[in-house]
Amino acid sequence: GSMQADATTTATCGFCATGCGLRLHIRDGKAVGLTPETAYPVNLGMACPKGWEALRILDSDQRATQPLLRQRDGALQPVSWDEAFRTFCHEFQDIQAKHGADSVAFVSTGQIPCEEMTFLGALAKFGMGIVHGDGNTRQCMATAVTAYKESFGFDAPPYTYDDFEQSDCLVFIGANPCVGHPIMWERVLRNRNQPEIIVVDPRRTETAMSATEHLQIRPKHDLQLLYAITNELIENDWIDENFIAEHTTGFDPLREHVRRYPVDQVAARAGLDADQIRRVARKIADGKAVSLWWTMGVNQSYEGVRTAQAIINIALITGNIGRPGTGANSITGQCNAMGSRLWSNTTNLLGHRKFQSESDRQDVADILGIDVDRIPTLDSWSYDQIFEGIRRGEIRGLWVIATNPAHSWIDQEDARELLDRLDFLVVQDMYHTAHTARHADLVLPAAGWGEKEGTFINSERRYGLLKKVSHAPGEALADFQIFRGIAKYWGVGDLFSDWTHPEAVFQIMQRLSAGRPCDISGIGGYRQIDACGGIQWPWTEADANAGANRGQPEQQRRLFGDGHFFHSDRRARLVFDEITPIPEPVCDRFPFWLMTGRGTVSQWHTQTRTEKSPVLRQLYPNRPYVEINPADAREMGVSNGELLALRSRRGSATASACLVPSIPRGHAFLPMHYEETNRLTLSHFDPHSRQPSYKDCAVSIRPA
Ligand code: SF4
Repeated sequence: GSMQADATTTATCGFCATGCGLRLHIRDGKAVGLTPETAYPVNLGMACPKGWEALRILDSDQRATQPLLRQRDGALQPVSWDEAFRTFCHEFQDIQAKHGADSVAFVSTGQIPCEEMTFLGALAKFGMGIVHGDGNTRQCMATAVTAYKESFGFDAPPYTYDDFEQSDCLVFIGANPCVGHPIMWERVLRNRNQPEIIVVDPRRTETAMSATEHLQIRPKHDLQLLYAITNELIENDWIDENFIAEHTTGFDPLREHVRRYPVDQVAARAGLDADQIRRVARKIADGKAVSLWWTMGVNQSYEGVRTAQAIINIALITGNIGRPGTGANSITGQCNAMGSRLWSNTTNLLGHRKFQSESDRQDVADILGIDVDRIPTLDSWSYDQIFEGIRRGEIRGLWVIATNPAHSWIDQEDARELLDRLDFLVVQDMYHTAHTARHADLVLPAAGWGEKEGTFINSERRYGLLKKVSHAPGEALADFQIFRGIAKYWGVGDLFSDWTHPEAVFQIMQRLSAGRPCDISGIGGYRQIDACGGIQWPWTEADANAGANRGQPEQQRRLFGDGHFFHSDRRARLVFDEITPIPEPVCDRFPFWLMTGRGTVSQWHTQTRTEKSPVLRQLYPNRPYVEINPADAREMGVSNGELLALRSRRGSATASACLVPSIPRGHAFLPMHYEETNRLTLSHFDPHSRQPSYKDCAVSIRPA
């Protein structure tokens, strides 16, 4: 038609961590349409509705187009960038002068490219003297990070997407890829081995319906189920003794521990059939290439780390790691969750180092050419600890970048109240209507995906490129340019004089990665990432210089093929623990167990972006709905679509009844996409990862 393209280019999608390649059709330097990239090794020509609509959401009258400053009368008024930068520095420096440098904190994101994360973390911690910063990855991946670090010695998901196709037995625990990761699920459907598909989920999800075994477990009984399966594997000698002896430590204590979880007892507690558990253990034993996959059902739990490690243990003791079709595989959530894990400078010093290690600090100082005294010696507080710091009056200023805690943080009414206690809140976002922006004193308008450059790292450790194919509206700037502006006005522009553009920072990241497990020193710049369809870490200079074809990276690479892990003795650890009681059990007053999660392929998290697409909007109800079992509805005298009032000890919400047999009696499921959902959730956390446990609290449900 009239919008015929005159060029195309490929960029990585900016919603989820699948990291699909999207081909952008460009006319006069601006993208006018997109199609899924057929040659990209991730998605092989497929995309989900969010990806298809990635350009549409850029054109919205809710885009923040000018900096906005809260006036004395309470209204947000447009100001110039000069005034915005001056106010940002003046307000935060004033708070720091009165209350100490650590009284200002930041909350970062898994949504911006690695280069911007690196810049933000370095600017905040080395330039502005901030000690406490965390990312919204605390809400999704912190558990997997902690589990991998303890078990493998580094935060290292071992797999590549080809493993979905190579397995003959796939086990999904707390994961619903049909809806959460639809393109990954398409890869499962391409599997030609007629695989066993085992799903552990309290709901009969779309994924569970396609499984050969669905263990429809009572919520939060997954850890003991995994111990029972482990016990069954060991008792029957369905284990890889050579692998255990050569590559792990802790097997004997693990064997002793899981003896306390006999199948029959666990089955009774978990609401499962003992024979089915035995059958599943047998199928895992019989599989030649078994892969175990988990996501938020495991991560967002008060005992998530130990649950993830129980999954890792099963892969290790059966020798299902390092070979095609195997692995203990955490599926990431956000487009750049792994970038945040390696590069946000929050929990870990840049490149997954330790703030508390003098030699790590010195390494970073040397590479960046900064004074080592600029690097904090203390770990950051985690997200929840930052909020508790606000409650105690110790955190007075907060800078929120590309995330939306006023909707997404657990126990939302409390979170909002805490945001309003701050002396100064800065929200940097694409949309001035984002829930958190409504609480802000200063809104900084940011460019979005498609309006800037950088790299994302997907679930299988692949660096993919994003491209500038459109102009940000009004005066909105790439986060990268905002950080440059702040550095200058703060008076630390000199520290970042080399940080001129994203690829320059990518080169700094390469130097920071060298010699680390996440080494990317061998990547030949953005150009090679583009040419290769993304490049998985690690890719070292030695890799790049080896081989006849000068080490051109293969398109699918996995870790641990040599059985060497990242602990100094190269062995993986088998980690286990006591199970812990459910923090808020159901009772007479609050008799329903509330689960939350992804409700649709068409919406992303708090919908800040995806609700701006008319197409995506039509694919999903505007008003919240709650899934309950038809028998429970009958007892309440409620029919489909009627309004229900949900109440927890913390708040209340209304939602229309959605009667589905896929949810067991006494349970309810409320999608996370609605701002009502987290009014109900309970602030409690995994003690090791500090990740919130979004999927278990007690509520009452009545006709509204
Ligand atoms: Fe692919 Fe995820 Fe983007 Fe959908 S949202 S197109 S699955 S990367």
